Amino acid sequence: MAANLIPGKEIATRIQEEVKQEVVELKRKGVIPKLVAVQVGENAASAVYVKAQARSCEKVGINYRLHQLPAETSENELISTLQALNADSTVTGIILQLPLPQGLDVRKIQSFISPVKDVEGVNPTNMGWIVYGRPGLAPCTALAVRECLAYTGVKFYGKEVVMVGHSDIVGKPVALLLLDQFATTTVCHIGTGERGLLPDHVRRAEILIVAVGKAGLIKGEWVQEGAIVIDVGINRVGDKIVGDVEFEPASQRASWITPVPGGVGSVTTAMLLANVVKAAENL
Ligand code: NAD
Repeated sequence: MAANLIPGKEIATRIQEEVKQEVVELKRKGVIPKLVAVQVGENAASAVYVKAQARSCEKVGINYRLHQLPAETSENELISTLQALNADSTVTGIILQLPLPQGLDVRKIQSFISPVKDVEGVNPTNMGWIVYGRPGLAPCTALAVRECLAYTGVKFYGKEVVMVGHSDIVGKPVALLLLDQFATTTVCHIGTGERGLLPDHVRRAEILIVAVGKAGLIKGEWVQEGAIVIDVGINRVGDKIVGDVEFEPASQRASWITPVPGGVGSVTTAMLLANVVKAAENL
């Protein structure tokens, strides 16, 4: 079987179009969505990300501002900045750009972003709502995985889902979102890999989602015939960007698969915009 590609770029374009319409609606009601990204110090990767955010916000009519702070900013100063943005009624969404300089406690600082403006879904309150099965502003990559799966029309009820990777912003929220749809969800991680148990888990997966960051970790031959494969991984190999799954052999067995690049990553950016609109609507 040759898998169908899940077209991340096409899904992203559709979401961006919907967001654009919603922004027009909001503006008609006098609500101007405004996203502020807080960046501490200089970082090449984060600088690229910030430019991309500014461009995609501009495309859909969302106001975007970069709030830059020096690398020596203390934890208290950063928290005060976030609190000022929380209190500013013209700001509808806040992003704290990562990585932060060493010595700053990321999770603690994220907890000071108002949950209603937390468009990346990183505040513990928003994480907690996912546990309760009532996701509000959830992490954008987890939402992107859900969108990619929705594109295939798959029904989750009783399905064997294997999530490889248990990070706070991808693996854990994805697992909880699907668990709540009554999928039978297994979460694998480094412990599973180091015990050599990954192949057995992957073989059972009717829906396989991988977010690790190791090129070729998942062998194509492990993929079950007809499985849906969502590859979140982004790895640079030479001058190429590849995922965590061996794409060619996996796509011979899967029914659906996301390409890398052009899969989950494209949808993630669109889900950020969707979250900005959702936050602005709910304020
Ligand atoms: P992370 O680095 O925080 O965690 C990695 C996870 O992989 C952990 O759960 C770890 O236990 C597990 N792991 C490591 N080695 C393993 C092994 N040998 N076997 C099984 N599990 C193993 O992960 P993250 O922040 O979720 O990022 C994962 C990947 O997804 C990275 O490549 C990252 O660039 C990519 N990513 C993509 C997007 C997107 O929008 N497409 C967004 C976020 C992250």
